[in-house]
Amino acid sequence: MRILVTGGAGYIGSHTVKQLLARGHDVTVYDSLHAGHRKAVPAERLVVGDLRDIDHVDQLLLGNRIEAVVHFAALASVGESVQEPARYYTNNVVYALNLLDRCRRHGVGKFVFSSTCAVYGTPTAVPITEAEKRSPINPYGQTKLAFENALSDYAAAYPIGYCALRYFNAAGAAADGTIGEHHDPETHLIPLVIQAAMGKRPHVEVFGTDYPTPDGTCVRDYVHVDDLAAAHILALDRIAPGTGLTYNVGTGRGYSVREVIRTVEEVTGKKVPVKEGPRRAGDPPALFASSDKIQRELGWAAKYTDLKSIVETAWNWHKSHPTGYGE
Ligand code: UDP
Repeated sequence: MRILVTGGAGYIGSHTVKQLLARGHDVTVYDSLHAGHRKAVPAERLVVGDLRDIDHVDQLLLGNRIEAVVHFAALASVGESVQEPARYYTNNVVYALNLLDRCRRHGVGKFVFSSTCAVYGTPTAVPITEAEKRSPINPYGQTKLAFENALSDYAAAYPIGYCALRYFNAAGAAADGTIGEHHDPETHLIPLVIQAAMGKRPHVEVFGTDYPTPDGTCVRDYVHVDDLAAAHILALDRIAPGTGLTYNVGTGRGYSVREVIRTVEEVTGKKVPVKEGPRRAGDPPALFASSDKIQRELGWAAKYTDLKSIVETAWNWHKSHPTGYGE
């Protein structure tokens, strides 16, 4: 398939591109490199550009006769979205809608969307199924929900098919150590804890110790980035024109912030300096997935089923790439 991957030089994007290429797909990566990394994808696949430049995207859709779009390019930090909602709505909704509409006009038949468990807000029950009410509690989740709704309306009216994958917490790195997680600034828990273990940060701050969870800290479902990537490959094969698929992608098991810290200590053999702090705005207490639907319908299953094996791949990446991609 001829596939355009927006944000393909980013964290989840680059792991997906690697799997798409391994399967022989003809992949064009479109990435502004604001958050993505040149070294995360083969140079001959990368087109540097911004989604705001919709005419550039248009040229690629037509010129490369694109059949499917996998859309990762988005802003993805909960805390930042609370501080700067304008940027989130512009990037995650306005630019995404422009892209979707060009896909419609040019007859692109398949669209895979990076959605998030943040669309559920604080769920009424865990594990969360796709039937849970969508009720985001932060602007990041709101922007993803808005675009899910647009996809659903487009698929009902036009011959475009889609799959929205609601990621839980992406973690880990490619098993062969070639690509991994590098955000600047880093805001995600596992890399921050690893960096604190390595002495690159004075400590890791625990955002809230008074949540209604077993140890008072937030519980999240950490899913290996290669398992997430695999879900995109399965989705691309299954999407049919004019229909929509929506799946949670998580392991089904939640770990608290304190459990993450303990696991990093176990894997690295190093003590992690910890500071307890207040809650971060926009964080629900506990989120973990029921992924029964994607298992049943697409045959997806997490290969990394426990946090330790995920952290081991992350630790391997951080050890061998102490400055990330070093750009
Ligand atoms: N977290 C934390 N300290 C940090 C970063 C994150 O305690 O320095 C917590 C955060 O409150 C959340 C969990 O770790 O409960 C995962 O946060 P992350 O930002 O990695 O992912 P998110 O759940 O926001 O997508």
